[in-house]
Amino acid sequence: MTVFARPGAPDALMSYSSRYDNWIGGEWVAPVKGQYFENPTPVTGQTFCEIARGTAEDIELALDAAHAAAPAWGKTSVTERANLINKIADRIEANLESIALAETWDNGKPIRETMAADIPLAIDHLRYFAGAVRAQEGSLSEIDSNTVAYHFHEPLGVVGQIIPWNFPILMAIWKLAPALAAGNAVVLKPAEQTPASILYLMSIIGDLLPPGVVNIVNGFGVEAGKPLASSPRIKKIAFTGETTTGRLIMQYASQNLIPVTLELGGKSPNIFFSDVLAANDDFQDSALEGFTMFALNQGEVCTCPSRALIQADIYDEFLGAAVVRTKAVRQGDPLDTETMIGAQASNDQLEKILSYIEIGKAEGATLLTGGERVDLGGDLSGGYYVQPTVFTGDNSMRIFQEEIFGPVVSVTSFADYDDAVKIANDTLYGLGAGVWSRDGSVAYRAGRDIQAGRVWTNTYHQYPAHAAFGGYKQSGIGRENHRMMLDHYQQTKNLLVSY
Ligand code: NAD
Repeated sequence: MTVFARPGAPDALMSYSSRYDNWIGGEWVAPVKGQYFENPTPVTGQTFCEIARGTAEDIELALDAAHAAAPAWGKTSVTERANLINKIADRIEANLESIALAETWDNGKPIRETMAADIPLAIDHLRYFAGAVRAQEGSLSEIDSNTVAYHFHEPLGVVGQIIPWNFPILMAIWKLAPALAAGNAVVLKPAEQTPASILYLMSIIGDLLPPGVVNIVNGFGVEAGKPLASSPRIKKIAFTGETTTGRLIMQYASQNLIPVTLELGGKSPNIFFSDVLAANDDFQDSALEGFTMFALNQGEVCTCPSRALIQADIYDEFLGAAVVRTKAVRQGDPLDTETMIGAQASNDQLEKILSYIEIGKAEGATLLTGGERVDLGGDLSGGYYVQPTVFTGDNSMRIFQEEIFGPVVSVTSFADYDDAVKIANDTLYGLGAGVWSRDGSVAYRAGRDIQAGRVWTNTYHQYPAHAAFGGYKQSGIGRENHRMMLDHYQQTKNLLVSY
């Protein structure tokens, strides 16, 4: 067991500045209105820095810088861009531990995850898109013996990006990597709950980028996000966040007729067919582990398997074992490498989760384990900790239909295959799903029948850069990851040439 020293301590891997401005045109720029907001760590609830409170004026400055940079950046060769993106990846890798610590401190998630997942995945996404853009090809069609149609990829120009607080650095890199590889300049607004780790990241990688190619403006949704998303000076807005906010983003974008990518909420089903319990073996063990994935990242994952569907004939036995497994998920200091579940990202989020636990009880769901705020003692008492919580009930209940975005799973049973698919699809959302069965044909059929952009079969919560990710139904529009993402950041130019 290792407990990392807290940022700023004499033996710590990193320290935060006490104040962060916006990152515009390759330098730190104070907010035009001179206002800052306090940024607490979820680990203790104590403020550790203050952050520029950006407004429309700061967005304009960032757009000026991005427009100044975009033409030259868009004309760089793909090799040049790919090399630079790889250099960013190398720099992040060389500072992996300090960036992981920064992320844990700002977001509250366990250091074992930021070190093993968040930051390595961010590095991999950068390298993937550096390679993908070099492998991208245009096309040529012969129209007749004298005429040829060429198709080229061109960057859009200046794009806007708005991200949430659950994976601050990874969400930023998911958006920045394809946009930069495709040759765009970016204005990005982090979530107001977790702005600091991205700013710390910029202090490490900022000098590698030509000024103005990446600009970060901090602030709140309506004050800073809205002027960015509704600006006539951007050619696209990419957004990750709540479905309700996604609808607003689409309205803003419609004024300027620009494309949107929307990665929104979810209420993902995790389906366990009878044969998962057929033998007391590794497969069964993986399925039980798969059940506990609802607590990964404190349940603050858009694809959180927040509804578990268990076939009736194994319901009692499987659920009994799953609850035992859930109780073993170790909760504690996020800086302790043994900790598996840390703090919720904000006090508001903690309150929201606790209120949904009360809603579950009030609507008659049965609480099997959890349901309480956790006091870890010392100064961690001020942190935002809640127990992994298992409810049983009916799919029509609010705790089955509404996104809680916390470590809360709502469990129900199903009779047969058709019943499982019907319950799984009985939701507004369609982002992720899990299917567990030893029978490959059942797993495959369910994977195809479930209306979700990502269905994991016999695994859960893997996010490789080369697998397309995105939502059906109210979970979003467009895809992220995979080389197809480059298309979302490019125009197609057709040149019709008569020789
Ligand atoms: P949110 O919608 O409240 O905020 C997301 C971002 O939008 C923040 O930066 C916020 O400041 C900004 N914003 C808020 N109102 C705005 C407005 N009117 N105009 C412009 N910007 C505005 O979401 P959140 O609570 O930060 O994040 C949690 C949500 O994100 C969950 O619903 C989760 O499922 C979703 N999410 C989805 C994915 C995915 O890939 N589909 C990934 C992560 C999170």
